Amino acid sequence: MTRKVSNHPEKRPVITLLDDNLANQIAAGEVVERPASVVKELVENAIDAGANNITVIIDDAGQERIQVRDDGCGIEREQLELALSRHATSKIKTTEDLFSIASLGFRGEALPSIASVSHFNITSRIPEADEAWEISTNGGKNVTVKPAAHPVGTTVTVDDLFFNTPARRKFLKSGRTESEHISDTVVRLAMAHPYVSFKLIMDGNETLNFDAAQGELLEDTLPRLTDFMGRDFISNAITIDTERGDLRIKGFVGLPTYNMSTARRQYLFVNNRPVKDRTLLAAFKYAYHDLLAHNRHPAGVLFLDIPHREVDVNVHPAKAEVRFKNSNDVFALVRGGVRRSLEAHSQDVSDTGRTQALRMFQTNNQPLAGHQIEAQFGSRGTHSGSHSGMPLGSYSESSSYAGQVSEAQMPQYGRSSGFDLGSQPSALGQADYTQQASQASTEAYNEHPLGAAVAQLHTTYIVAQTEDGMIMVDQHAAHERLVYERLKKQIHEAQVERQPLLIPDVVELTKSDAALVADHAEELAVFGLEVEQFGPAAIAVRATPALLGQMNCKTLLNDLVEDLHELKKGVTLQSQLEETLSTMACHGSIRAGKRLSIDEMNAILRQMEQTPNSAQCNHGRPTYVKLSRNDIEKLFGRR
Ligand code: ADP
Ligand code: MG
Repeated sequence: MTRKVSNHPEKRPVITLLDDNLANQIAAGEVVERPASVVKELVENAIDAGANNITVIIDDAGQERIQVRDDGCGIEREQLELALSRHATSKIKTTEDLFSIASLGFRGEALPSIASVSHFNITSRIPEADEAWEISTNGGKNVTVKPAAHPVGTTVTVDDLFFNTPARRKFLKSGRTESEHISDTVVRLAMAHPYVSFKLIMDGNETLNFDAAQGELLEDTLPRLTDFMGRDFISNAITIDTERGDLRIKGFVGLPTYNMSTARRQYLFVNNRPVKDRTLLAAFKYAYHDLLAHNRHPAGVLFLDIPHREVDVNVHPAKAEVRFKNSNDVFALVRGGVRRSLEAHSQDVSDTGRTQALRMFQTNNQPLAGHQIEAQFGSRGTHSGSHSGMPLGSYSESSSYAGQVSEAQMPQYGRSSGFDLGSQPSALGQADYTQQASQASTEAYNEHPLGAAVAQLHTTYIVAQTEDGMIMVDQHAAHERLVYERLKKQIHEAQVERQPLLIPDVVELTKSDAALVADHAEELAVFGLEVEQFGPAAIAVRATPALLGQMNCKTLLNDLVEDLHELKKGVTLQSQLEETLSTMACHGSIRAGKRLSIDEMNAILRQMEQTPNSAQCNHGRPTYVKLSRNDIEKLFGRR
């Protein structure tokens, strides 16, 4: 057997310069990922050219044709060929310019890249000229220039994208997906430029049409945002407008109770440039960090204004990412600005619950005769657990889980006895269930925002009468928030009470999970949870936070492991650990199925009024639904 002496190639490689067209095609690989990238580059050019009206025409999801028409400043005849050359731009001239970019484009490679992989045409007329000119090329070759007819402005037409790079063509997704990307691109650019009117025409159908906004105020941009985000979003969003030094963040963010399963409805802009920037996305998400479950996402539209020298937009070929000189400042401003606005509205709850409730009642016009809605008026005797009489069909689903569960069936931690209702003298265990909502207590609390408790439904919901209507509280969701906020307070004041366990609770985990928990023993101790490694694959729990009462250590630790895994990707340790807190709070809260006395219910209501963020539980679900007298009267046709 002969042994190879070297890995050297047989022939020494020779270095040559790439020809221009090949260089453009390579650049196209970065700039033109898909039809939507072409749309982005061409619309950005139109915006940079000062267009007031932009029309995007798409055939066959952009594979057959992408055309962008504008009424901008146009391109002179002599410059047409230059526009198609690599590194040719009118937007920057010096290195200094590169660090204060105010235009959307500057790299001078979009047009030549796109031209190198399509049948390409620019037709343009400048205001000073009587005639228009057009330039055409096939895959960057056979360039021709000739006179044409065109109003002032420019039309760029891109036919048969990737016709000469079939491998690229294969990477394209279904027409529907590509069309969605195109719409999304136009939407983002239109959001950032409310004073330009936009039209999108796909296969001959006008799919988007936005008139230019009138007026200077943030609110003037609302009509367009309403089109994009939906009326739903607008009625569940709050306005943000915060400045710090040279930085300004403005826009609209959804209430925590208005949350989504994906981050798709987060639109971020830096100096009116649509971006998908990690710092901004993280700051936005983090502003909601203990108001939403891990897997839920807020919605919002945020515009960051920042001096051009503070941000480098030249870090990504498609300019989708930016780099901040001071990303900590940006993070703090965005997180802080959003968070403060959310806290200022912490008693607001999205109106989806109310709307849904109204719809349910309204769609059910069956006669109620012979039925009675079952309520437990603070009295043990009236609670039967049967809900066969429920006439409201649409409610049966929830009532069957909540109404039928007896305490004996509840998971063990559901019977937490150590929780403390603050103003409440009787602990739950010895509550007096025989009392009625007295006239006196109803009057005394009527004026409070959350009113006076009058009944508990299905041992799950507290019904209260307010001055101008009624509210229904989900007792578990509400209590979870109360416990959480209290724990948080105790921790900030560095005095978490612990409840030592007489016999340590040993929980078996995988080796690596046990090690992970043990690694965080010190931080967990701050929360009142004392743990230590117990053999290679187990953890012994020695004490739990007293506030949480008796709890199931096994489920708690399993959930904690999930949180700790998340930690690695997280922002700061302390704040991420607040997630852990919220997990603990969930385990230590009263459950659905727990019977409450009128006094206990009132105590919960009063505490909710005092507690930050009490309109939603830690997972972003509303803790209560409100119906005004007006709403109720409508239901009965009194209005
Ligand atoms: P960049 O936008 O980075 O400068 P492009 O390759 O996208 O590079 O465009 C090259 C140049 O062509 C631009 O700098 C601009 O001067 C000109 N141009 C492109 N599109 C238009 C348009 N729609 N209207 C006027 N000028 C345009
Ligand atoms: Mg450009």
